[in-house]
Amino acid sequence: MLLSIEGLSKTYSNGVRALYDVNLTFGNGMFGLLGPNGAGKSSLMRTIATLQEADSGSIRLDGLDVLKEKTRVRQLLGYLPQEFGVYPKITAQRMLDHIARLKGVGQAGERRDAVQALLEKVNLYKDRGKHLGTYSGGMKQRFGIAQALIGNPKLIIVDEPTAGLDPAERNRFYNLLSQLGQNTIVILSTHIVEDVSTLCSSFAIICKGEVLYAGDPEKAVNELDGMIYSKAIDQADISYYRNIYQVISTQLKGGKLHIRVLSGGAEPQDGFVPAEPNLEDVYFSNIATRVDVNTL
Ligand code: ADP
Repeated sequence: MLLSIEGLSKTYSNGVRALYDVNLTFGNGMFGLLGPNGAGKSSLMRTIATLQEADSGSIRLDGLDVLKEKTRVRQLLGYLPQEFGVYPKITAQRMLDHIARLKGVGQAGERRDAVQALLEKVNLYKDRGKHLGTYSGGMKQRFGIAQALIGNPKLIIVDEPTAGLDPAERNRFYNLLSQLGQNTIVILSTHIVEDVSTLCSSFAIICKGEVLYAGDPEKAVNELDGMIYSKAIDQADISYYRNIYQVISTQLKGGKLHIRVLSGGAEPQDGFVPAEPNLEDVYFSNIATRVDVNTL
């Protein structure tokens, strides 16, 4: 399957430009859509999921025109939205059975087998009889994936799925998602850089509705080889460094401010040491061109 987006733009009626000339191509595998809050990630995902209209541009899923052939796309789609509400007083098993019926899995026996297989896949089989209201955040997210997988979708969209999960739950969720990417396009939006470096074979950085970078995470990191330097400074000196260097991130640790700078030219003086680049450097060096650097 191939999903291709060309020239997609959307401005909401309140004047907010959420997407601007977005061009992206997705093949099978995990694709990470990375960007700060308000970047336009959900707007893009809802548009691909046929839940909202674009002002201009096109989205094609193999031969399908996603913006027009919505019903056909929905049959191929699994979607886990950011705000995924569950009915608290119903068991996981009953809820999945109900959703399977809505998705057209008609025969009771077929539904029972499909629901059981899904519950096992997301590791909720032993908790299948519990009310959804008693589930932890991680269990709810895994249930969310189970409902998105009903009907064997070819395109799976998950919007900020790891927000609010503790590290163990996040790990379990990562493992589940990475199993899915083999014969399916999985698009994951996140503002957590680690989600992308752990899971995704392709990614894009989006900010203020525009795609700033798209490609392979490892390649993106390699492109910064020899260009990142770090130094621990006094907090009070930050303006001095910002004036002279392109500071891409700062982190306060043990009373010192650890800064990382991007230097395409000569090695910076002032006691900087060369640093191994990482995906966070890729992210910050891209978005630093678009947002107030003092907030980084
Ligand atoms: P993200 O998912 O990256 O946080 P969103 O797509 O939710 O970003 O939002 C992009 C921008 O569009 C934000 O400025 C947000 O406030 C605005 N926005 C999102 N949905 C609507 C809407 N329905 N009406 C008006 N503005 C919206």
